[in-house]
Amino acid sequence: MIVTTRLPVKRMRSDSEFSYRCNSCGRCCRDKVITLAPYDVLTIARAAGITTADAVARFTIRRGSILRFDADGACAALDGPRCGLHRGRPLACRLYPLGIERDFDTPAQYFIELEPAPGSEGVYGNDGTVAGFLDAQGVPEYLAMNDRYRPLLAIFRQRIGELVDFETIEPREFWRVAAREALSESGYDANELIDALFDADRFADAHEDVEDAVSRHVEALAAMARGCRDARALGAAAVMLAVSLGYSPSAACLAGEEIGEKNRAAAKRNDHSIP
Ligand code: SF4
Repeated sequence: MIVTTRLPVKRMRSDSEFSYRCNSCGRCCRDKVITLAPYDVLTIARAAGITTADAVARFTIRRGSILRFDADGACAALDGPRCGLHRGRPLACRLYPLGIERDFDTPAQYFIELEPAPGSEGVYGNDGTVAGFLDAQGVPEYLAMNDRYRPLLAIFRQRIGELVDFETIEPREFWRVAAREALSESGYDANELIDALFDADRFADAHEDVEDAVSRHVEALAAMARGCRDARALGAAAVMLAVSLGYSPSAACLAGEEIGEKNRAAAKRNDHSIP
């Protein structure tokens, strides 16, 4: 059965009944706030045939972490009523009109139906499943690529635990500053790690296969984090990474303050080997 009025907001699982037919009216591609993951910026760049640094400048705001919408409300990638980056459109656009809720500590994930754009010609229905809809949009592959960045959070946290004595620095204040620094629209400090999060091509050939580019990117980010001596920069980058992967900012700071003297001592030893 096709349902043309909006379905009530509810939490759905992969096997929940759901279908949606996009009629390419372009109205969903206006006036949104769309958070980007490092992999989103990479696929945007590949679809546009430009480097990730150019993609950050052309299609994003807040250092690469949010999709750019122009003053008239249209996404910077909108070409008439169609997406000019369809092949490399971000995860949020593939999920639409669904949103995803993921918990960092458990494999559970839920889907919610988002508010339809005013005047949207999209047609909702229940003649399929959430999983079928997501498969058709290539969402599982995107989530799998995002998950390859997940282990970085533990590396960032460990390095922060090595650098910060949370017996003398209040953890909540440290993470509050980190979140403010990561999520500010403007006025933030320069942060090489955050810049590197959204610039995979800095570490890969711009024509390289995306899987290889992601591998290289993750390795390079891990090395940067392990060699970083600036805990504030690491904290902001950890929050930015957590949020960009669809987790709450607290996913960045779960264990940072719990790392004790043992890791700090290890850091002092490591510092001697960091050039
Ligand atoms: S990236 Fe494409 S699908 Fe996503 S909002 Fe922009 S134009 Fe629409």
